[in-house]
Amino acid sequence: MSFSDLGLRAELLSAIEAQGYTEPTPIQRQAIPAVLEGGDLLASAQTGTGKTAGFTLPMLQRLADGKRPAKRGVRALVLTPTRELAAQVGESVRDYGQHLSLTSHVIFGGVGQQPQVDAIRPGLDILVATPGRLLDLQQQGHVDLSGVETLVLDEADRMLDMGFIHDIRKVLKLLPAKRQNLLFSATFSNEIQTLANQLLDRPTLIEVARRNTTAETVEQAVYRVDREKKRELLAHLIQSQRWFQVLVFTRTKHGANRLAEHLGKRDIPAMAIHGNKSQSARTKALSAFKSGDLQVLVATDIAARGLDIDELPHVVNFELPNVAEDYVHRIGRTGRAGNEGQAVSLVCVDEHGLLKNIEKLIKRDLVKHIEPGFEPDPNAKPEPIENGRGGRGRGRGGNGGGNRNAGSNNAGGNNTANRDAPSGRKRQRRGGQKRQQA
Ligand code: AMP
Repeated sequence: MSFSDLGLRAELLSAIEAQGYTEPTPIQRQAIPAVLEGGDLLASAQTGTGKTAGFTLPMLQRLADGKRPAKRGVRALVLTPTRELAAQVGESVRDYGQHLSLTSHVIFGGVGQQPQVDAIRPGLDILVATPGRLLDLQQQGHVDLSGVETLVLDEADRMLDMGFIHDIRKVLKLLPAKRQNLLFSATFSNEIQTLANQLLDRPTLIEVARRNTTAETVEQAVYRVDREKKRELLAHLIQSQRWFQVLVFTRTKHGANRLAEHLGKRDIPAMAIHGNKSQSARTKALSAFKSGDLQVLVATDIAARGLDIDELPHVVNFELPNVAEDYVHRIGRTGRAGNEGQAVSLVCVDEHGLLKNIEKLIKRDLVKHIEPGFEPDPNAKPEPIENGRGGRGRGRGGNGGGNRNAGSNNAGGNNTANRDAPSGRKRQRRGGQKRQQA
């Protein structure tokens, strides 16, 4: 099947061609015709499946087909959990809509609001936003959402995880009753079901395989190593195996900084991204990493959410996440679109319980390596895992093997990683949710 079979107009087909896409991905094959028809959609799809084009292309087409209302409001609103994802969706809107005369803008917190206000004032066809900044601007009277024709909630499960449910509900109250709603979520927890039931009218349901649970294109390996030798081992692996583009996950912001500094001292260009960094520092690090100028990007889970980095060859879990599902999200950054990827986890004695939980979730045992010169001490005693501030509470089954204080928060207190995240609200657990299997 080709894109032209999906009923897309010539301007979009030529933009798709310019992107080099030859055929639609499974989610695009299903979502594009459904969205073009104008109905609601409930799609289970992760980053990496092509979901962004799945909603952006038909949304652009419907906007281009429709008539621009006289009033200066917003016609399509896309809500995303993080600034990075908002920026990426905004980029997709611009790329795919390059031959259409539609206007779009991206707004998020952590940057000055005046340019955003100026961009919104004349009215916009598409506004991509994180909920916090959107509500800020709306409350100041800068955004009119009363004419929204299409609402997209992207990575809705992440938005709920980050405590945005109240903000989402506030936004919903500002929208007209008659509109098209598209809800994308990697998982279907009870909270997502509740939201979907309230929001969607007889939606088309789309499920695409959770590529990462099978992850045929990702080679996964574990290196057993002592806690204190992890940094040295990582530097050694990067240099000896000539990894040129490596995304490294750490549990805490502090740990991310320390690791980036350490690698820098070993002449491995590395930068950390997390919520304490300014937006411009994060954008700069991400673009240097994407362009290949920066060899290593060290990130906490929340900071890494929504990062769209194609064909990433190496993902390293410098520390295992407390929540096993986050392992799947992390390694989903590699091996995309049929490209081979490698996910390496450095595991010390503190993390044996976490490793077991991950193996249970992905239903396979990971290959364990021991690098010569980095043999772990067989008598090492497990210690409580440092989670950073905010990483309190007990992980969902993630506290075995000596992880006495394994926290409930996958990013070790990086609730503040996105300054739009409502403060003081507890991140919602994702317990009890049903994971989508192929
Ligand atoms: P997403 O799941 O929307 O984050 O997209 C993941 C990546 O796949 C992005 O880098 C897209 O540019 C790319 N992509 C989207 N659709 C296609 C397609 N039909 N063929 C090849 N790559 C695609």
